[in-house]
Amino acid sequence: MHSSKMTTRLTTTIISLIGAPGSGKGTYGSMLASRIPNSTFLSVGDILREHSEQNANNAVGQAMKETLRSGALADVSFVSEAVLQRLKHASHQNNLVILDGFPRSREQAEIVSTWPIELQRVAALHFNVPDEICISKLLGRRKCSICNGSFNVNGVNDNGFFMPPILPSDGSCPKQCNHETDWKKREDDTEETIRKRMKVYHDETEPVLSYWSERDRLHAIVPYNGVKDIDKMVNAVDKILTDIQQYKK
Ligand SMILES: [Zn+2]
Repeated sequence: MHSSKMTTRLTTTIISLIGAPGSGKGTYGSMLASRIPNSTFLSVGDILREHSEQNANNAVGQAMKETLRSGALADVSFVSEAVLQRLKHASHQNNLVILDGFPRSREQAEIVSTWPIELQRVAALHFNVPDEICISKLLGRRKCSICNGSFNVNGVNDNGFFMPPILPSDGSCPKQCNHETDWKKREDDTEETIRKRMKVYHDETEPVLSYWSERDRLHAIVPYNGVKDIDKMVNAVDKILTDIQQYKK
């Protein structure tokens, strides 16, 4: 008689971050990766932006740049292939990959089940933040034009959320450069694009919440105090890593 028990092997866990544009999930994701040993952070937006820059002089790159600018979702098969390549690489070196920006639609979520089995240990973490707070944070985003340090000129004190503005009052950048500097807005942080991104989020990405919930793989957190809630977020990830042992396929 052979045993039905399969040999266990080390598998990378993927935690997919879900949240409206401006919810802070990218910031929280990279902070989590720096706090948690053997983990890494992958941003699909960054992957696509790099891709568009590398192909700046051809049609593929220009189409991608236009898609990113408009706030629409990029082509499903293109995105999933780009993400899959990065994940394969990242999963060799890390026990945990924190993934920001995929899947962003139910169609993309269904592609996850076609990935290699060792990349199917996926759970979702939802950062639940009301629209008006996200919009205010997006409109307040600034980058230091010298060191690229991120700041936010808009504070939030609403609905239990408390996030003071993050910007030095004297105009000099407190991050790496420590210089008098200009604050630049991201090209796609216009009010028109932000509204469009919000609509895409509600129409396309919110259905992903029920996709994960139906599979008992949805976890949620309300980051009332923004980055100050990082310990709470680390605990949420610990709980996911414990719970994931019991997930059914
Ligand atoms: Zn700076």
